[in-house]
Amino acid sequence: MFETMRLLSGTIAIAAGVFVSLGAFTAEPGSGATLEVLQLRPNFYMIAGAGGNVGFQVGSDGVVVVDSGAASSADAIVAAIKKVTAQPIRYVINTSADPDHVGGNLTVAKAGQTLFTGNGGAGLATNFLGGGASILSAEQVLTRMSGPSGKTSPYPVDAWPSETFNQPRKYMYLNGEGIEVFHQPAAHTDGDAIVFFRRSDVVVAGDVFDTRRFPVIDIAKGGSIQGEIAALQKLVDTAIPSVPIVSREEGTLIIPGHGRICDQLDVVDYRDMVTIIRDRVRDLMKQGLTLEQIQAASPARGYIRRYGSDTGPWTTNNFIEAIYRSVNEKVQ
Ligand SMILES: [Zn+2]
Repeated sequence: MFETMRLLSGTIAIAAGVFVSLGAFTAEPGSGATLEVLQLRPNFYMIAGAGGNVGFQVGSDGVVVVDSGAASSADAIVAAIKKVTAQPIRYVINTSADPDHVGGNLTVAKAGQTLFTGNGGAGLATNFLGGGASILSAEQVLTRMSGPSGKTSPYPVDAWPSETFNQPRKYMYLNGEGIEVFHQPAAHTDGDAIVFFRRSDVVVAGDVFDTRRFPVIDIAKGGSIQGEIAALQKLVDTAIPSVPIVSREEGTLIIPGHGRICDQLDVVDYRDMVTIIRDRVRDLMKQGLTLEQIQAASPARGYIRRYGSDTGPWTTNNFIEAIYRSVNEKVQ
């Protein structure tokens, strides 16, 4: 485990002396929002305080950004990236369609320049050519952002993913390293992606991993407890801790959707916590208890003080209900 240190927002703790903080940026004059930019690796950075956590890789091919934060922080994200490098932003990869992860898509992509310039060729559609940075996501993110079932999209077309995939693993090789994007088809939502920078040894997890609270499982958007646990297991399997020399503050870094930088053991603990609560809920269901009775039995006990909430958008009871409904659907 990393020795921790509290920073500005109170939500990030970093290994003392390992990461370089590049200081705070004011997101917008008068907005009061403050971003924290951390250098995690020679060519990899993290921005916190802009909605969801943002990661970006820098190199001679340009900048690859994972998530674009909230719309209100988009200009500050672009400014923070430009302060680190003069290279153009080439890609924005979205880990889900949540507004705190895609809200800056339009501004961040427009500040960049796609790799695909020129007139056609390579089998690429013309609307992929010559514009801002490409936006890559699982197909379901485009479906949500483009406004399915006749609804009007809350986002302009240029904020939508320009490249989508629906296979389990999408890969690229940019800035001298392999980048793997793993689709998690039914975890926090149906469009979650985990992004692994193999040489930097950094994983950007998205909202399948949230150190501030129980994971948000959005059943209405295709999430499920089974897929959530599978996504956490994928993170555990992708990362390597500092063994056998555990005293070193090394190993794969995992950037959660929200909260502090983590290592593999942090994800193991979080996965175990989610699995234990799922098992308790399932056992109570087998005893024939109703959802209300299960909630009253407090299956999240032992974890509520750290991850729970009685108020706000994602309460402990919301989490228990999501487990209950996921398990129920599987049974039927
Ligand atoms: Zn989020």
